[in-house]
Amino acid sequence: MGWTKIDWACGHSGEIQLYGKMADRESKAAFEAGRQCMACWLVDQWEQNSDPRAKREDRYKLAAQIAEGKSKRIKVADAVPLKNDKASLMAERDKLVARIAEIDAMIEEE
Ligand SMILES: [Zn+2]
Repeated sequence: MGWTKIDWACGHSGEIQLYGKMADRESKAAFEAGRQCMACWLVDQWEQNSDPRAKREDRYKLAAQIAEGKSKRIKVADAVPLKNDKASLMAERDKLVARIAEIDAMIEEE
């Protein structure tokens, strides 16, 4: 039992708590290193689900706090500027347009 250092594929590093036999811990550590960290995964989920937390500059910090509760310590920046590149803005715009269409449909049903 103990904390094992991990460098995740997303570029974040930190450590996770692993239990069990040495061989099991090594394969679990290798599995973790081959994918994005839990903080990145959570932020992706928030973005996809239009969760308001995705719009906070401290979103990675929030996600890392949740990960800490799952025995994963991930070093992240306190604040990460929101993405304002064209692709992100277009994705945001598409979501809003879809929402407006939903609202229009509800109004027409009145
Ligand atoms: Zn990450």
